[in-house]
Order: sequence, then C-alpha cells, then structure tokens
Amino acid sequence: MHELTPGSPSLRALFPALHQEVNGHPLLYFDNAATTHKPTFVIRAITDFYEKDNSNVHRGLHELSARATASFEAARQRIGSFISAPNPDGVIFTRGATEAINLVASAWANSVLQPGDRILLTAMEHHSNIVPWQLLANRARLSIAFAPLTPEGRLDFDELDQLLAPPTRLFAFTHISNVLGTVNPAEKICALAHSRGIATLVDAAQSCGHFPLDMEALNCDFLVLSGHKMCGPTGIGVLAIHPRRFGQISPWQGGGEMIERVTFEGSTYKSLPHLLEAGTPPIASAIALAVACDFLDSIGRDAIRQHDEKLAMLALDLFSRIEGMEIIGPRNSRAGVVSFTLTDVHPHDVVEVANRFGLALRGGHHCAQPLMRVLAKPSTARASFYLYTTEDEVHRTAEILAQVRKFFN
Ligand code: PLP
Repeated sequence: MHELTPGSPSLRALFPALHQEVNGHPLLYFDNAATTHKPTFVIRAITDFYEKDNSNVHRGLHELSARATASFEAARQRIGSFISAPNPDGVIFTRGATEAINLVASAWANSVLQPGDRILLTAMEHHSNIVPWQLLANRARLSIAFAPLTPEGRLDFDELDQLLAPPTRLFAFTHISNVLGTVNPAEKICALAHSRGIATLVDAAQSCGHFPLDMEALNCDFLVLSGHKMCGPTGIGVLAIHPRRFGQISPWQGGGEMIERVTFEGSTYKSLPHLLEAGTPPIASAIALAVACDFLDSIGRDAIRQHDEKLAMLALDLFSRIEGMEIIGPRNSRAGVVSFTLTDVHPHDVVEVANRFGLALRGGHHCAQPLMRVLAKPSTARASFYLYTTEDEVHRTAEILAQVRKFFN
C-alpha cells in the first residue's frame, strides 16, 4: 500500500465502483463531497466480519463475542489515534456527522446552556449544523447568530471577533464548506473561542478524509466525523469529546449497553463512551471505518490535501474558460469542492446533461439553504474531488461542461 499516490492507476484499481460505464461513457465520479467510494480493504472488512466474527459486542462471554468486542474497541482506539483524540473514551460511534451534532445538542448543550445563552454558527453551515441548534434553541430559549462571510466566501474575522463574546457559549462551525470549498482556520478559531471561555464544535465531515486532523492541536471541545465521506461505510460517524467536557455529559438515549443497573425504580449508567451508545452499535461499520483510517494514513493525508487543492486549482482554471461560467468560493487555498453556475442553465439541467456523458455532479442547495440566500442563488452545480480523481478526469469534465454550455445555447 505504501507506494500508492493520489490519482495513480494502482490506487484507482482499489476502488471497484470507479471502473464502470455510465450511459456508454467511463464513469467520472465528481460527487465526493456527498459520499466517497470505498476501497476493497473496507468492503472486505465488512464481509470478513459477517463471515467470521459476527456476534454482538460487550454482552457475550463466548469466543465470537469476545472477538467482535475486541475488534470493535480496537476500532475506537484506531479512530481516536486517527484524529489524535485526547482520550479514546470520548470517541463515540454515531450514525454520521448529523447524529453526532444532534447528540451534542441533547447530551451536552441541553443541560449546560441556559436561557438567554447564544449559539454561534456560520453562514456557510450544512443543515446538519443548523437545524439541531434551532430545535434546541426553541426548547431551551437560546438564541442563534450566524458569523457572516467576506465576498470571497471566507469567514469575516472582524465580525467573528465581535460575535465571540457574551452571550455566546458555543461556536459550532464547519472545517470545510461543502459548497464554497473554503477551509476555515480551525485551530486559530478554537484558540480564540477558548481564550474567551466559549466551547467549540468542529464539523469535520468534509475534512476528515482529506486533511490531517489533530484534535489535541485544535483543542476543540467536540469534533464530528462522517464515515462515508472518508472511504468508510454509510451509517457510521464519530463524535469525539474533549475530556474537559466528560463531566458535563448526560445520557441522551436509553437502552441496553449504556446502563450499570436497572431496577423497577430507576437506572444507573455506565461512563463514557458506553453512556452515549445505547443499543447494539454499528459493529461491522466501525471496524471497516478503522480500516479506512489505515488506508488513508498509508497514503498520507497531507498528500491527499495537496492533491485536492491541485485539482481544485486546475478545475478553477479550466472551468473559468467556459462561457457564462461563474465559480463560487475562494480562488486559492481551498478544498477540492468547486461549485458553479452556468448563465441561463438551471444547475439541475447541468447535472442531468452531464450524467448523459457519465459525469456524476451534484446540483441543488447542497443542504445549505441559508448560504444560498447569502449567495443570492437558489442552487449551484458542484464538482468535488477525492484521492482517486485524476487531472485527466478534470480535463474531461471541463470538456463535458463546455458541451453542456453548447447544448443550451
Ligand atoms: N456537515 C457537512 C459540512 C456536510 O457536508 C455533511 C454532509 O454532506 C454533513 C455535515 C452530514 O454528514 P452525515 O452524512 O455524516 O450525517
């Protein structure tokens, strides 16, 4: 695995789903911000689990249950080391980044924040990092503010500085925008918030498989990941909690696995991480996610980040030569997510015609309707890259977009 470089044929060979034709053309998969493909190692980890070790965890005394438990807990350790979590007991398996944010809202913010407190978000958040806070704010009489953006699509630090003050108690922000490709300086932001006694949640759904992530260096209170956006299976994500918050966490779902003792009168609970994992966890998916971490580290997240940025800069250059093309987001130092519009062509039509050429794009509001309002656009088309994307594919995509343009002229 060690000689694998991003975009190389040997790396692409590990992703079975890439090697197919769509509408008579080789698949060009440019929808990686929505979900990434899975390498054979990850797929095999799932089938291996069900073929050999399938059993429930923690409760069993037999051999298969012991093996499943050992692999599941090893996966927790591995994912903790992947993000340099300060303590693996704070690594909680969830269904995805969305559930992880809802978990923080229910198990921490709901009891720690007081009426009148403010939650600060940014204008570039995914609905997953807006709606859970709106639900909580309505219930708990909190307010919400949104840090505004510069015209280029970066956070406006002058405004942010003023908003990181009372009554703000929590700043929850995305590391990378799934629309703009903006990379927020998470470490700097967390340091600023921390110096003012404000808790931080970093939504790393778009960065977890693309960037080196070091929770100790970030010094954030909460970090959320999405497994399916980092070569892992769907239906798994992670919430990592900083140990300084452990004592403030309450149970959020009740059931098996999270209790010490249950009587007719009441229950006592286990400590973290089990306190937050009621019921049978996603065992096979957690084990496969740990394999995805090994795979990504064997390639190197710095190398993946550089590859993404190189492809983004190439796409910006090639796409901008197409008549009527408007590219959204920063012009440099950005992630491999490029949103755009073509004058007089609805983004859904761009995506639909591109699909006829085997090109998988995404069109719509990308679960960021408030951002669309800021951009004064109902929707955009989006091309997003990953470690298996090649420069040649970006060139072919630009050619297809030029054809789409002609189709609507
Ligand atoms: N946050 C961001 C920035 C995203 O882009 C997404 C998914 O697109 C999510 C959160 C939700 O992630 P999940 O699918 O793991 O719930």
